[in-house]
Amino acid sequence: MPDTKFNLIAGSWTAGVSEIENRNPSDITDLIGLFTQASADQLEATLDRARIAQADWAGYGLERKQAVLMAIGAELMSRAEELGTLLSREEGKPLAEGRGEVYRAGQFFTYYAAETLRQLGENADSVRAGVEIDVRREPVGTVAVISPWNFPTATASWKIAPALAYGNAVVWKPANLTPASAVALAEIIDRQDIPKGLFSLVMGSGADIGQRLVESPRIDAISFTGSVPVGKGIAAAAIQNLTRVQMEMGSKNALAVMDDADLDLAVTLALSGAFGGAGQKCTASSRLVVHDRVHDAFAEKLVAGAQAMKVGHALEDGTQIGPVVSDRQLSENLDYVRLGKTEGAELACGGARLEMPHDGHYMSPGVFLNTRNDMTINREEMFAPLTSVIKVGSYDEALATVNDTRFGLTSGIVTRSLARATHFRRNARTGVVAVNLPTAGTDYHVPFGGRGDSSYGPREQGRAAAEFYTTVKTAYISAGNPA
Ligand code: NDP
Repeated sequence: MPDTKFNLIAGSWTAGVSEIENRNPSDITDLIGLFTQASADQLEATLDRARIAQADWAGYGLERKQAVLMAIGAELMSRAEELGTLLSREEGKPLAEGRGEVYRAGQFFTYYAAETLRQLGENADSVRAGVEIDVRREPVGTVAVISPWNFPTATASWKIAPALAYGNAVVWKPANLTPASAVALAEIIDRQDIPKGLFSLVMGSGADIGQRLVESPRIDAISFTGSVPVGKGIAAAAIQNLTRVQMEMGSKNALAVMDDADLDLAVTLALSGAFGGAGQKCTASSRLVVHDRVHDAFAEKLVAGAQAMKVGHALEDGTQIGPVVSDRQLSENLDYVRLGKTEGAELACGGARLEMPHDGHYMSPGVFLNTRNDMTINREEMFAPLTSVIKVGSYDEALATVNDTRFGLTSGIVTRSLARATHFRRNARTGVVAVNLPTAGTDYHVPFGGRGDSSYGPREQGRAAAEFYTTVKTAYISAGNPA
């Protein structure tokens, strides 16, 4: 049996009260490792130490902090192949995506390394004569980071990097489905020149350690990515302590394909948006809203493209779609397939469990045709390699359909018309809009987040992150008489 990997509690690698097995979703006979689970007492010890360490860290010079973040980023980028392999092995995304995710995680750290040196405030004259005002940002304190399994390294990094850059302590509870990537990142951070206990890793179940963490009055801010029901529970817990909270949750992103679109481009964008990461992305194109003049040609190419995609072991050459993350996720996906058919949608291809040489959670990419936007498969986030085509008769109907959802993370349009692209960009009710680009795939130096049930609280990433990870202080200074 492999050694058990420990938590980073108050600056020391520590065994918890129990352990979980982590298995490869491409091949469940592959045991990746055993991972400890934190106790309630260990969480308390972590929170005690974080408070002290944060005060030390706030006193570090800017360049010292910058060097720490830069070193973490550089190591992630230089080890992208190795850590991307580990990520793909435990999460199931194809190696190119795993490698790319780790590299991107490194870029979050190098970006926020630079931001440590750009923490500019504002100066103003007071309305009172002889009084000046200095407005500056200060750290919030101790930040709880609760991250999901679908981007185990990148999502955690786009929270941890700004939290540290802006002077906070971090207590990180990763998803129990992807603990190996979490330990790898925590080891890198722990090796840096940071105060003992500034950064902690508390692996444990969401219902136990996650819940205790978000209920703790000693947490000053919570950044969460995951499902809507868990997000609502976290918000309810946070409000009891008036803890600030930022949440990125589900979505039901739509890609609109207009009658003037380059159809080959539209199909390429739809396939990558719908099936990248086996559809397990909050930015996935799960609704394809297609103008009736190009509907049949688009549908034919889309189905042919989906059927041609190679499903396989995440680490095998040529794999375009890996397994889904767990057996539970697979059975929920198959429930949605049954539900879609019951509701009257036509399953044109895929949507089935696949038997493969390895014993994993494999599913063929599925395309539903003849769907209506009011069907459950077009209302709920499925987080599956499934997408639906909805036929519309005009641009106006397309826009109305895109916006007819309780979510609002990303949307996209494929068109050659500047007028339509511009109107769409300004009227799509989502936090991110893509023109002739996939709904999935965003940069790290600009804000990310959505509307409706997709997000709550300030935006993540880019300089927008300062809103959440800092608190503003306004100082009034009376200079007195120089004579
Ligand atoms: P969850 O919302 O359950 O998990 C997200 C994170 O929250 C995990 O770290 C989880 O820990 C933790 N967590 C769970 N319960 C609590 C709690 N009570 N208090 C604090 N933390 C908690 O998502 P699932 O992994 O169960 O996925 C279910 C669905 O959620 C998916 O099918 C998808 O629709 C959506 N989802 C959306 C994501 C996005 O990117 N927007 C990401 C992941 C999921 P642990 O896993 O260890 O229990």
